[in-house]
Amino acid sequence: MAAVDRRDFMRGAALAGAGLALGCGGEDRRTERAAPTGGSAGTAPPGGSAGPPPPLLIDRASVFDVRAGTMRPNTSVLVQAGRIGAVAPGTELNADSGAAQGAARIDGSGLFVLPGLIDAHVHVTHILYQSYMTGDEVLPFYLGHGVTSIRSTGDNVPAQRLVERYADERPEISPNVFRCSFLIDGNPPWHPDVGWYLATPADVDPFVADMAAWGVKTLKIYVGTGREVGRRVIEAGHEHGLVVSGHLLDYHTADAVRDGIDCIEHIYTVSNFLLDDPNDRHSINLDSDEARRLIDIIAEHGARVDPTLMVFWGTLLFMDLPEVYGHPDHDAMPARLKAFWDKDRERRILDWGAAPLSVREGTWEKYLRLTGMLREAGVQLLVGTDAPEPQVAPGASLHHEMEFLAEAGMPAREVLTAATLENARILREDGNRGAVEAGLEADLVLLEADPLEDIRHTRRIRTVVRAGRALDPADILSAAPAG
Ligand SMILES: [Zn+2]
Repeated sequence: MAAVDRRDFMRGAALAGAGLALGCGGEDRRTERAAPTGGSAGTAPPGGSAGPPPPLLIDRASVFDVRAGTMRPNTSVLVQAGRIGAVAPGTELNADSGAAQGAARIDGSGLFVLPGLIDAHVHVTHILYQSYMTGDEVLPFYLGHGVTSIRSTGDNVPAQRLVERYADERPEISPNVFRCSFLIDGNPPWHPDVGWYLATPADVDPFVADMAAWGVKTLKIYVGTGREVGRRVIEAGHEHGLVVSGHLLDYHTADAVRDGIDCIEHIYTVSNFLLDDPNDRHSINLDSDEARRLIDIIAEHGARVDPTLMVFWGTLLFMDLPEVYGHPDHDAMPARLKAFWDKDRERRILDWGAAPLSVREGTWEKYLRLTGMLREAGVQLLVGTDAPEPQVAPGASLHHEMEFLAEAGMPAREVLTAATLENARILREDGNRGAVEAGLEADLVLLEADPLEDIRHTRRIRTVVRAGRALDPADILSAAPAG
């Protein structure tokens, strides 16, 4: 998201200390393995880096089929060597099956199995550096809330690599981390800590080659990039097999979509081009021909939209409301992060918060309505949050975002598919994750209530399975710092 005042941002290499801090406390914060619930066969698997966990049978549960959007009752899942070995009816695969001999067993009765959730918009180091925190420290919040993968959408590239390495070494407390480029921006970059200025199209190719060599999944075009450079970023990114995403302002979203951008970040990257008064961010007109055209162009070209409603709720529109800044999801956040959120809130209140509450509520309703309009036009929505922006709690906020998407008119089955399969697709990871299907990584969430009945049931997590390890969410969360 765009900051509204860059004075607070430190210039220069804000992350110089990240490498030193990354290893801090890693060993003593490692959790013990949670024993599979209701299990009888076998003991809890050994620690994260000690090799693949032993087989695990989730015996006769309800399993979410991301392609059909339905729960398949009485279905078993066999996990072997960290991957899903088989998914089959309970009559064919159960504790008595030969294939399941020696596997630890989870009694699946009354449980609902989802693919691991993916947050499509987070920052791994950006934001956190203002809290004197490093990206590794908040990873347990994601995994403890069933978020088994996170998609970075713009950050310092070497710092992300360090956080990813940390996550890979500690899968029992960390999601998979997928990296993004620096924010490709104008001069000066809006965010000095993570921005990168590309002056001309000729500057694009070497930069994109560097990003590809670093192994990023996503290139992110930011507010100050114009069409000439932006179009070359999209072309060069695609030549390297990268996904190109944008939080746009100088580059009109309609142009970027025509030029082939894959993904639009934040609902206001659509609505900011639909203002009756360009100087009033609240003057969104969704009933104009222009609005219809922009929505249709996005749909026709198949660009995804990642609304990140959470950051508008938490950071921009309602940051001064006690029910927002005092939301129970924030209780567990580290004191350093909350201190930054409190400090930042004072600044935000002078900007977006200066508009009367009724005006801000009107803008929120338009964001929800536009989200629904995009969906109805056939645009695939993603589920991202912008954590850890203020009042956007890593992990818990993904559940809140899903609730907002449901409020915007998205049926629960679509929300769940978006947060799993579609978020995996935008990472080009659908061959590895995003579904409960044989051959994929065994990243799963076991719920105690049916999320198709009520999307809020995604919060009722009994067990998180990460790379085949059955984990107790409370144990994962206990690995996160309080201070
Ligand atoms: Zn962001």
